[in-house]
Amino acid sequence: MGQVIDLQASEVKEVFDQVDNLVHADFSQQLEQEEVGNLAQATKDVYALANMLIEKHPVHLGHLIGVPIKFLFSLKPKVKSGRQVLGTAKAFPAAAALLHPYKFQITLDQRYWLDNPHKREPLLFHEMLHCFIDEKDKCGILAHDLEEFSAVVRHYGLWREDVRDFSRQIELFEDKGSD
Ligand SMILES: [Zn+2]
Repeated sequence: MGQVIDLQASEVKEVFDQVDNLVHADFSQQLEQEEVGNLAQATKDVYALANMLIEKHPVHLGHLIGVPIKFLFSLKPKVKSGRQVLGTAKAFPAAAALLHPYKFQITLDQRYWLDNPHKREPLLFHEMLHCFIDEKDKCGILAHDLEEFSAVVRHYGLWREDVRDFSRQIELFEDKGSD
């Protein structure tokens, strides 16, 4: 069975140095210097859960079998538009293949991961759903228009407070009788 691949810590340090150089040379949507200082290696349980999710949801995640994904922890909480960022997913540009084997980077808020064991599965599923590979083998990030992927809600319900609030707003709109 394909496994999500990890590198040794020493290799990763090298990768970050290289990626960071790459950013300033070529790519706009890459790691910022301060972000690198805020990152740590994700623990083995993240990889184990990722592999479990691929097996559990082959329809949604089957394309990620054997695809190297780098999982990291973000050490300081990040807030964007008044909401805490629990996780982010990034696709590496094709040229990054010259530097390291990773296709995607998934970063999880470490505090949230440690404090909410029962939310780990929907969180990781959500981030992995962002990781998209097209028919030409090009990696990209799939957007979600609503606050949550429908696949996550279907399998795990409304697991986040802010998603619940959002669905309440939808209900309110519907009560008002919009078409
Ligand atoms: Zn998302």
